[in-house]
Amino acid sequence: MKLVGKVRSVPDDQAVLGAQALMQALNSAPVVDGRRQDLWRDDHEVDRWAREHGGLGGDEERRWLRTARDALQAVESGTPAEPRLRQVLAGVRKVPRPSAAGIEWQVEAPPERRLAVELVLAWADVKERMPGRLRPCENPECCLFLLDRSRANTARWCSMKTCGNRLKARRHQARTRDTPRPG
Ligand SMILES: [Zn+2]
Repeated sequence: MKLVGKVRSVPDDQAVLGAQALMQALNSAPVVDGRRQDLWRDDHEVDRWAREHGGLGGDEERRWLRTARDALQAVESGTPAEPRLRQVLAGVRKVPRPSAAGIEWQVEAPPERRLAVELVLAWADVKERMPGRLRPCENPECCLFLLDRSRANTARWCSMKTCGNRLKARRHQARTRDTPRPG
C-alpha cells in the first residue's frame, strides 16, 4: 500500500511523512566524540521533529515516536524488531476517501500514535520505492544511515566529508604501517 498525496495536499491532521523526515528520525542518534548521543532522549528534540511534521506533542506521542524510531534503527542495523513495529501498527487502517482527483488513502490511527505510524509507513514506502538504498553507514564507529540516490547505488558512508575521508585516511595509515620498510 502506498500513501497518496504530499504533506500540503492533505489536511493538517493527516500529514504524510517523506523520506527526508524518515532520515532525520533515523539519524537522530549520531556519534559525537566517540559516544552515541541520542538527541531524541531530549523531549524538546522529539517535539521539534514532531511539530515540523504535524505532530501534537505530548508524552504519548513521544513514547510512540521513540518506539518506532528505535525499531526502525534496529531493523536497518540487522536486528529483528517486528514485535515493536507490530505494536506501533496495531489496529491501524487505511481508508479510501474519494474526491474529484481520485482516491486518497488516509491513515486511521489513535491521534497520539499517528505520527509514529506514519514514520513506519514512510520507511516502508522508501523500502518499496527505493529497494536496497537505505542502509547503515559503513563506518563501524558511526550510527547514521544513508539513503543512496546515486545511479550506481555504491555509496558507503553517511557523508564523504566525515566518515568517508576518515576511513580512507585510516586505511591508508594501516597500509603504510603494514608495509615492511626496506633495509
Ligand atoms: Zn557515517
